[in-house]
Formats: sequence, C-alpha cells, structure tokens
Amino acid sequence: MERWHNFDYKSCEVKHHLSTSQPEADRYDFGQKNYMFNVLVSDKLGPRRDVPNVAHEKCSSLPYAIKSTASIVIVYHNEAFSTLVRTINSVFDRTPKEYLHEIILYDDFSEDHLQVEQDLQKYAVLAGWDKSKLHWLKAEKREGLMRAKVYAARNATGDVLVFLDSHVEVNVGWIEPLLNAIQEDPRRIVQPVIDLIKSDNFQYTQVMISKGGFDVSLRFQWEYFDWTYFNTEENNLKVFETPSLTGSNFAVQKKFFHEIGEFDLGMDIWGSENIEVSLRLWLCANGVFIAPCSHVGHVFRTYRPYKTRSDVDTLIHNAARTAKVWLNDKYLKHFFDYNGRAAKVDAGDLTERFELRNRLKCKPLEWFIENVYPTFKPPRDEL
Ligand code: UDP
Ligand code: MN
Repeated sequence: MERWHNFDYKSCEVKHHLSTSQPEADRYDFGQKNYMFNVLVSDKLGPRRDVPNVAHEKCSSLPYAIKSTASIVIVYHNEAFSTLVRTINSVFDRTPKEYLHEIILYDDFSEDHLQVEQDLQKYAVLAGWDKSKLHWLKAEKREGLMRAKVYAARNATGDVLVFLDSHVEVNVGWIEPLLNAIQEDPRRIVQPVIDLIKSDNFQYTQVMISKGGFDVSLRFQWEYFDWTYFNTEENNLKVFETPSLTGSNFAVQKKFFHEIGEFDLGMDIWGSENIEVSLRLWLCANGVFIAPCSHVGHVFRTYRPYKTRSDVDTLIHNAARTAKVWLNDKYLKHFFDYNGRAAKVDAGDLTERFELRNRLKCKPLEWFIENVYPTFKPPRDEL
C-alpha cells in the first residue's frame, strides 16, 4: 500500500510524504484523482490553523443558556488524512468541553489505498485527543452517506446530533447557536452557514449568507435575500427559515431525528437527501433553519469523486425517491418532464417511506409552497 502521509511524532505535525521518489507533483495528482481537491496544499497547512472569525460581531455576546450536549457525527469515505485531522482538531479546539459529549467517526468502507483510520488512531494518542470522547466505527460494505450517517447516529448518546462532513473546519462559536436553536424548538433542524474552503488553495472564504432551495426537477439552487435584509442588525443574529438545507451538515435533537424518520435508507451514495429531509421537516414537523451566527468552513468540490453505482447516477435515483414520496401528482409530472433520466430509473421500494408519511400525518405539498416557498412554481405555461 502506498503511504502518502507520515508524522513528525514530536510535534504531531502532519507532513506529506516528501521522499525523492514521491515528488510533490505526484502527491498533487494523487489528490486530484482521489479527493478532487489540492491535497498537497491541505497537507502543508498541517493539523490545525486559525480561520477568520466571519460571524457578525454581536454573535459572541448573545446570551445562551445551553443545557444540552452534542454528539458530533462524522462519516467519511476516502477522505484525506490532513483534512480529516483538521476537521477533528477544529471540533476539539472550538467546542466548549461541557457541550462536547462525543465525536463519532464512521468509516464508510474507504478503499484500501485510502485507509486512514490506523494512522488517525496513532495521531489521536500523540495529539492527546480525549479517548473517552472518540468512537471509531466502520461499515462492512459501502453504505453511502445516508445510511452511514444513520448507522453512526444510532450509536450516539448525546442530546443533539451534529452531522459534519469530513473536510470541514468549524469556526469560533459555531456550536452555541445550533444547540440554542434546537433547545428553543426541538422539532426542527438547524444548519450553520457553510463557508467556502476553496478546493484549489484551501483559502477560507466568507460566503454571502443565502437560503437553499430547489427547482421542479429537485435540483438544488441558492435563494438569495434581498439587499436590505442584513441591514437590520437583528437579522444577522437570529435563525432564519430556509426552504431547503444546503447539504447535510446540521444539528438535530437525537430523539426527534429517529422519530421523524432519520434519512431514507433506500438512498445510495450521494445526493438529494438534503431536499428529502427538508420537505419532510416542513411537511411533518417544524421545518429547517440556518443559524447565521454559526459558521463552518467546508471544502466544496467541483466534481464528485464517487463512481456511480453501476450505470445509475445515485443523485437521479435518490431524487426520484424524494419526488415520489413528497411531490403531489401535478408536481411529480413536472419532475419527470424535466428530469427525463429519473423517469427511467427504478426508485426501489418506497413502502416504508409512505408508511412514515402516513404515520406522521404530514401536510400536503401545497402548504409548503404557500407558506415556505411561494416561488416554487411549475413552469409559467402550466399555471
Ligand atoms: N460520504 C460517505 N459515503 C459515501 C459518500 C460520501 O461516507 O458514499 C461522506 C463524505 O466522505 C463526506 C460526506 O459523506 O464526509 C458528504 O459527502 P461529500 O462531501 O462528498 O458531499 P458534498 O459536500 O460534496 O455535497
Ligand atoms: Mn462535503
């Protein structure tokens, strides 16, 4: 097996492999091929770094009386060592001890040449990570991010689950706004603002705060606030509703997450789960929100590094499942009209999801459109 990283055991620095037989150009190519980001730059950044505190200046003085603890759930498949180490260090460094119940690391069957768990366990000892707070789990076969997150979360024992990708850096004061918002209403999901860590140079970049949404084909899109919204100071501080989550980094009360149907276990690998959860939370509970004071940097990739499952793009398969369960007849027709490939895939057995919808006594889609997402409309000529 090729070893692409080693340690300086004294300082616990992560160093990329700089033997003469492995020049930097090869390491770069290796990263582009396996991770779809510049792993050379990531390695050189080392195990931790300061990130710009991009939250509004008033965020740090908000009064919180948090009574809950968090289980941080990180699932990963073929993650680079240096990004994963920075993710975990950022959580340890920037989460007050009293709120950090545990960190669950779940390896979703990474390929042999991209295994990192053993080295991570060595690093954990050297870095002095609190052993009692770390849990190491592993899939026996590739599960995909939805089942991986659910299986990992079922092992959690904290009050609130916080799902994080394996290539993030949480920012200063990131967890308080999330825990506080869940405490105020445990029947919702709350997400941080996801800042951009550029995949070519790893610069941490503040994003324009936006909402998430989707079109009739259930393709994700950003929804922007009007120019004046953030001129009002309070709007920079208070949680706002969003039609859709912008991915699956979010906080949710553990008990509620299981009651409300977790993720759809029939989904594979990647895609659409954020839209499925959002529609479900709006129609069957109290919705999905973003806490503008909570910031997490995330490495956005231009391409997905995953091979598709045989000939089916999992995004299409997962979107078809979402559409069949949550769209009504009229919108389902539009979905298939605009997403020709989805009409051809076998979405698999949906019995359990329909049962869930009935059991939860969910509202009809029209309620969501009228009250949460009035701009979600079928094409003009169909109105
Ligand atoms: N992931 C996983 N199994 C998979 C695909 C993804 O465990 O089959 C993990 C991945 O390592 C990451 C998280 O799920 O920690 C979200 O995936 P990704 O970052 O690729 O999604 P994106 O942020 O690009 O939407
Ligand atoms: Mn990601």
